[in-house]
Parts: sequence; C-alpha cells; structure tokens
Amino acid sequence: MLTALRLKRPAAKPTEPYVGPPMMNAPNGKVPSALIIHHTSGRNNAESVVNDWRTNRPGVGAQMIVDRDGTVHYTQKEFGYNGTGNFLHSVISGVSNQTAVGIEVIARDDADMTQAQLDTLKRLAGPGGPYANIPVYGHSQVSPGDRENEGVRGSGGD
Ligand SMILES: [Zn+2]
Repeated sequence: MLTALRLKRPAAKPTEPYVGPPMMNAPNGKVPSALIIHHTSGRNNAESVVNDWRTNRPGVGAQMIVDRDGTVHYTQKEFGYNGTGNFLHSVISGVSNQTAVGIEVIARDDADMTQAQLDTLKRLAGPGGPYANIPVYGHSQVSPGDRENEGVRGSGGD
C-alpha cells in the first residue's frame, strides 16, 4: 500500500536552468555590490506591489519581483517604475541602495516563501545564474533593525 502511494507521487522536478535577462547593473550603473532579498509582507500580485510603491512610497522599490509561482517580474520593463530604494541604512561596507540590486519576493515573511520562489532565487544567484558571482544578502542582514529576519532564508542563510 505504501509503495503504491509512493509510485503515484510525481517525481521531484529538477531545478530548471536560468533563462532570462543577464545580470542588471546597480542604479549607479556598475556591477552590483550585492543582491538584496526582500519580501513584500503580503501576498499581493506584482502589479499591486508596484502600484503601492508608486502611490504611497515613491522612490521605494526593487528591480525584480518574484511571484508566488516563481515568475520573475522586471519592474522597470514591465511596469515602467524606477524606484530602487529598499533599505534605510547598511552595515555592510560598499553596499547601498545605489550599489545593490533588489529583489522582492511576494511573501508574508521568510517562512511564507514558496519552493518555486526559492528555486527562482537559486536560479538567479546559484551556479550558472546571472548573479552567481554577486554576494547575496537578506534585507535584515544589510540593514538590521529595519525589519527582522527578512530575506535571510532566500540568501541561503537559513
Ligand atoms: Zn526589505
């Protein structure tokens, strides 16, 4: 019986290779000093996340947004929005909103990130990904005190 149940289960999908745009430059036009992982603290879709930034917090934003199903949305290209400010201060030398690229994961908190989202982060920042050679931090690692334990899981720091 147990064996039969196990056979019915679909085989685990291997992580697909990254297909998408190459690494983007930081707002200062240079190779990013870091990739910073954030979460939205909610489960809205990418468009409403951008609308919230645009309407309520102009200047705040991230270059990429990862949907619940792992899809990467490129904020500027898809929504025409350029806000890149994401953290208030940085304890890591050389890492600032001007030098880093930000990625917002649509999740209530780190524990709420889906496997598809974690796989996407791995494709972006893992071996062979466009950000493979860029240090990856969770928001709360760069800017402790802004938010607690934000994005740490996706950065591999879990
Ligand atoms: Zn954040």
